[in-house]
Amino acid sequence: MDKPYLKQFPNELGFFGKFGGSFVPDSIKQAMNEINTAYNLIAQNSDFIAELRKIRKHFQGRPTPIYFAHNLTRKYGGAGIYLKREDLNHTGAHKLNHCMGEALLAKFMGKKRLIAETGAGQHGVAIATAAAYFGLECEIHMGEVDIKKEYPNVVRMKILGAKVIPVTFGAKTLKEAVDSAFESYLKDTKYSMYAIGSVVGPHPFPRMVRDFQAIIGIESREQFLEMTEELPDIVCACVGGGSNAMGIFSGFLEEAVELIGIEPLGKGSALGENAASLSYGSEGVMHGFNSIMLKDKEEQPAPVYSVASGLDYPSVGPEHAYLHSIGRTKVAAINDKEAIEAFFTLSKNEGIIPAIESSHAVAYALKIAPELKGKKILVNLSGRGDKDIDFVVEKFGYGE
Ligand SMILES: *Cc1c(COP(=O)(O)O)cnc(C)c1O
Repeated sequence: MDKPYLKQFPNELGFFGKFGGSFVPDSIKQAMNEINTAYNLIAQNSDFIAELRKIRKHFQGRPTPIYFAHNLTRKYGGAGIYLKREDLNHTGAHKLNHCMGEALLAKFMGKKRLIAETGAGQHGVAIATAAAYFGLECEIHMGEVDIKKEYPNVVRMKILGAKVIPVTFGAKTLKEAVDSAFESYLKDTKYSMYAIGSVVGPHPFPRMVRDFQAIIGIESREQFLEMTEELPDIVCACVGGGSNAMGIFSGFLEEAVELIGIEPLGKGSALGENAASLSYGSEGVMHGFNSIMLKDKEEQPAPVYSVASGLDYPSVGPEHAYLHSIGRTKVAAINDKEAIEAFFTLSKNEGIIPAIESSHAVAYALKIAPELKGKKILVNLSGRGDKDIDFVVEKFGYGE
């Protein structure tokens, strides 16, 4: 019998088919190899597994429930709509699943400091939380533009004890923050650990982050069977880098379940108006891995846009590129307007305010549900929307 998918992919060089790998200078490669070796050892270690299990239960509040959205199901009159409540995870999103794993790995490796970049600040807050838990130092690199835009998250990181380093070169946003964080990491790979924010970057990060996020899929499969005695027909999740989607998909890859990644269509299909990499991109290397990305005329990562800053990334995790290329997953795109409508619809009909990122997946489920009577759709509700309410009210009011 063939090995299960998750044991076969990626291969030992970090490839999912032709996607993934490690396209980095030798200096970084050495540090990545060290992390990979440690992770391979530790992932089998019963102390590590027991510790992570304890953290998930007692600190993060896992398992998160699956909720049957009865009002929406009735309102749309078709498929049953179910939500995996990652918004109820401590700090309000799925990100802590891999941040706690990365921080625990750092601790096992004897590291003293976590270094990370952040765009909207969500990853920064999750890493700062993990660092506080483990008594590690924490250094977060953030573009000056983002610091102004996402100030409440900067305040949270500082309260949690993290040092926030403003990045003042280039466009002063996420891409420069990655460059700056890597530079700082390379000065001290002995005592520092780089903590990536999604299933992206050079090997072993796409695999490691997927493995840490797989808890969403493991729980979902079990909970869904317990609730309905069946598996869902469709599982959908929003895709920025792709970590929450890979997390839930990984529980259903070997099953006859349709898996759909929802990309941000932003203002439209023209280059620069969206961040729908799988829908409109082509093969290319950035941030150390080969995947499908949105490129400009010079073959460089194109400027991207989405109303959800957490989805605003010109590439996508290599495993998504692979699964899409072999037809195992599908991709759909939801624009800003549809996402904001879903934000209000879920809030007003079920009493759950979703993150704008997650609202993209909700919007897709609401769009297809009416035609699918008798089917069941499971949506990964990756995070809560408290972080978005000021922005939403200022731009769109209170919804009618
Ligand atoms: C960061 C974030 C995302 C996007 O990241 P993925 O790696 O694609 O999951 C989605 N939802 C929320 C709530 C986030 O904070």
